[in-house]
Amino acid sequence: MIRKEGKARWVFTCQPCNERIEAVDQFRAIEAMNRHKRYTQHAWVVLGQAFQGIVDALNQVVTPLLDALAPVLTPPPNKPHDPTLVKDRRKWGGR
Ligand SMILES: [Zn+2]
Repeated sequence: MIRKEGKARWVFTCQPCNERIEAVDQFRAIEAMNRHKRYTQHAWVVLGQAFQGIVDALNQVVTPLLDALAPVLTPPPNKPHDPTLVKDRRKWGGR
């Protein structure tokens, strides 16, 4: 957005990038805006904002699913099923 903030002070502000460029007249402000919009970082920021909604929606679906699956996904403790082997402390910790 281009605004006139004072005498010979035209300011272009890009909301998504938090960018603020000052120019002495409106035409230079417009040129600065065009230069900024051609800049790659600006495109990435705008794209990122566009995809943020999708990412948020996916997070709302995936996070509870992962929480529900957590007991399944965690590997079992590496201990033998045979209790006599578990009691053998030479192998399973201790001396
Ligand atoms: Zn921008």
